[in-house]
Amino acid sequence: MTFTPFRDFFKNTLKQIRDDGLYKDERVICSPQSGQIRVRFPEGSPEKAIINLCSNNYLGLSSHPEVITAAHEGLERRGYGMSSVRFICGTQDIHRELERQVSAFLGTEDTILFASCFDANAAVFEGLLGSEDALFCDKLIHASMIDGVRLCKAKRNIYEHSRMDQLEDALSRSTDRVKLIVTDGVFSMDGDMARLDEITALAEKYQAMVLVDDSHATGFIGKTGRGTHEHFNVMDKVDIITTTFGKALGGATGGCVSARREIVELLKQRARPYLFSNALMPAVVSATLKVLTLLSKTTERRDTLETLTKGWRASLADAGFDLKQGNTPIVPIMLYDARLAQNFSRDLYNEGVFAVGFFYPVVPMGEARIRTQISAALNQQNLDRALECFVGIGKKYDVLGKTREDMIAMYSR
Ligand SMILES: *Cc1c(COP(=O)(O)O)cnc(C)c1O
Repeated sequence: MTFTPFRDFFKNTLKQIRDDGLYKDERVICSPQSGQIRVRFPEGSPEKAIINLCSNNYLGLSSHPEVITAAHEGLERRGYGMSSVRFICGTQDIHRELERQVSAFLGTEDTILFASCFDANAAVFEGLLGSEDALFCDKLIHASMIDGVRLCKAKRNIYEHSRMDQLEDALSRSTDRVKLIVTDGVFSMDGDMARLDEITALAEKYQAMVLVDDSHATGFIGKTGRGTHEHFNVMDKVDIITTTFGKALGGATGGCVSARREIVELLKQRARPYLFSNALMPAVVSATLKVLTLLSKTTERRDTLETLTKGWRASLADAGFDLKQGNTPIVPIMLYDARLAQNFSRDLYNEGVFAVGFFYPVVPMGEARIRTQISAALNQQNLDRALECFVGIGKKYDVLGKTREDMIAMYSR
């Protein structure tokens, strides 16, 4: 077999990942996604019920009965698969309806659907810009936007995370044809928000467009859950929003670019992941439409999420954990060392709490953390119990009340 000589190469690469403490084990869930789930870990061991603090099921809609019914209806009325890309024979009435409803929800002019937000981000830059144009990107934008930016010939200016002075400096020097500022709305690893008030003001001052990836915001950030542009009261100043249906909006799959009319029209002509990848399955389209209807009726779920999040953040801070500052349901507990983060996560799991350690390459080297995410599917008892576990394990590793420097001195070799 020709693979034989290469097997060792791949084995060694894997060994290196393990030796560096960077290997990721998947925990197998054998229940629907929710605030409490049943897990087998290691695989083959008995099922165990645990509190889930790491899903993107922010609004608890992933297994909501009305969403499931809507998915069934989509399946019954429009079939299972599309077997086509949109522009050949893959556009149904419900695809159009979802595009209209997403635009109405986000307050944009039009929307184009993609198989995922990863695809939306892979599409949006190359589809719109060329070598005469320039991008201005926060250093911590999501991996999918980094990849999307790589596919595009526009010049790249990277500013340090949320450094508005650096952004302004770069904008002020630019003589490029189209200028596009690129940011996450909520940064997924740190849980802070982009300063959209300042970003949109700079965009106006220097005649630039603004793109926000609101994957960790759509459905729950802002008074009525429209996203970070609502939170900062700049709904009419963000030109392009990319977002996912795979997080708060039911959590299945799918994403979109929601933007000015001409931008969407151009992407429908040019975006490669749109032209060369299959149309969204009807069950997902139908369920996502239901989610938007539910969210337009009441803000109850996002309000619950906000209340639970405030309590969780405050009690972790009171206990002495080193938290990333922010006011979103993403609450990262900083531990800095990758192995410590993994051990901490393993101990949490043994105590019945599911919260994953994040480390390089998902976050920068030496910035390992446990990322907790609050969900409206959780209740206060779940969080009280989780807090007890965190505090117990925090004491075991002696990280309560410790600074970054303390922890690095204690754990880095
Ligand atoms: C999750 C996420 C994506 C990818 O979304 P999918 O629809 O799962 O591909 C893109 N951008 C950001 C900021 C995300 O958090």
